[in-house]
Amino acid sequence: MDKGKDTIRRKPRRSRLSLLSRRRFIKTAGAATTAVTIGFGTTAIGAEENPRVNEDDAMAKALNYVHDARTVDAAKRFSDRYCNNCALYAGSADDEWAACSIFPGKVVAGKGWCSAWAPKQ
Ligand code: SF4
Repeated sequence: MDKGKDTIRRKPRRSRLSLLSRRRFIKTAGAATTAVTIGFGTTAIGAEENPRVNEDDAMAKALNYVHDARTVDAAKRFSDRYCNNCALYAGSADDEWAACSIFPGKVVAGKGWCSAWAPKQ
């Protein structure tokens, strides 16, 4: 009889422990999956996914877009205006290339510029 009681007592303890281990595993795996998803999400909108805007495209020409803003005549562009500090630039200031809402499905150079430049709010 005593052996039976011991067996009954031990089984729930193991189950609780394994349940805790499973919960811990699921929490850890969930956090890791979220981190990986966020990482891939950043890459998905990054420069590797979309082609660069062609400076010779009709829209790019209409807006005087260039990959290197320093080549623009000073009379047309204030020297502190670049894509990477424009309100329409989807990347961070350090990104070399990122999406711009003016050119859907394409990326523009962080050091580029066009006449639609707008200040960040
Ligand atoms: S709208 Fe802004 S981010 Fe887009 S191309 Fe023009 S300057 Fe660059």
